[in-house]
Amino acid sequence: MCKPIVDAARAKAITTKLLCWYDENKRDLPWRHAKEPYHIWISEIMAQQTRIQFLLAYYNRFITLFPTVESLAAAPEEEVLKAWEGLGYYSRAKNLQKAARVIVQDYSGRIPDTKEELIALPGIGEYTAGAILSIAYDKPVPAVDGNVLRVFARLEDDDTDIMQPAAKRTTAKRVEQLFPAARAGCFTQALMELGALVCIPQNPKCENCPLVQDCYAFASHRQHILPIKAAKAAPKECEKTVLVIVNETGEILMRQRSETLLSGLWEFYMAEGRLTERQAMEHLCSLGFVDGVITPMGAAKHVFSHIIWHMTGYMCRVRGKILLSDYCWVDADTRAKLAVPAAFRHYVHQLSE
Ligand code: SF4
Repeated sequence: MCKPIVDAARAKAITTKLLCWYDENKRDLPWRHAKEPYHIWISEIMAQQTRIQFLLAYYNRFITLFPTVESLAAAPEEEVLKAWEGLGYYSRAKNLQKAARVIVQDYSGRIPDTKEELIALPGIGEYTAGAILSIAYDKPVPAVDGNVLRVFARLEDDDTDIMQPAAKRTTAKRVEQLFPAARAGCFTQALMELGALVCIPQNPKCENCPLVQDCYAFASHRQHILPIKAAKAAPKECEKTVLVIVNETGEILMRQRSETLLSGLWEFYMAEGRLTERQAMEHLCSLGFVDGVITPMGAAKHVFSHIIWHMTGYMCRVRGKILLSDYCWVDADTRAKLAVPAAFRHYVHQLSE
């Protein structure tokens, strides 16, 4: 079953109830204080993988460091990555800055207000373009994310797999049908807010929902089995050994990654596989370090979208400054300014202790 909302009276009721509910229940979020396209853009990119409560501190710090699109465009990339540290998906931070540079150069610093111009910018897709256009410019352009897909799958009692492109297209048409003549931005945010606070993934709070009388899944008692979402392939699991190699002056051997995953971020020396203490010592010798002293730093796990790292860590105190290709010795002051992936948080904490 995959049909747009054809009942005009029902469509009007949904829109009206949702806007009233939003006016009374919306959270006080900093980017809602003014319709500033730059702030909305940053918040939407940050919110794509992170819960709002978690990103608030990051958002406030980012806006303090880079208050305008011009300041973001002019900043060294290293500073932007450092400000993004902990949020993950660093390619998003890089694309933000690339897009900021295009906006400064081609649009005199004004964030474009057409879909065609927005989706031509790095890192901006249909969803982000819709969010900017509706929230910042009050244009009736749908912004369909996982929350909105879930809300409509339930409202319409729709069995379509929401991972299929067809589900996104149908949902966008449904949103278009519901847009009010004015307040498109409030309507977009109301849908997002309903999905975040009431029509949540597990155990939707139908008893508190303004749309309970209009919801077909609630009427058929299917709200708990919708939306249908095909399982993703299981992420690949990898064993790694992290060698935090420290020389006599306290400098640490580090490398700036060039791989697609975590590109541009700084990491400690890593060997493939799970090495025992003895194997780690042998590995250290094979790199040219003799007389090393090894201390276990424990295990850590980091889950990326498609891969899981299971890490075993060792602190390796060595003599001398043998230089490996791609690596450099980094002192504590410099290290504090480098963007180190959250994957290494367990080991970074131990260094700061
Ligand atoms: Fe979601 Fe329940 Fe509201 Fe339907 S009634 S939209 S399932 S919270």
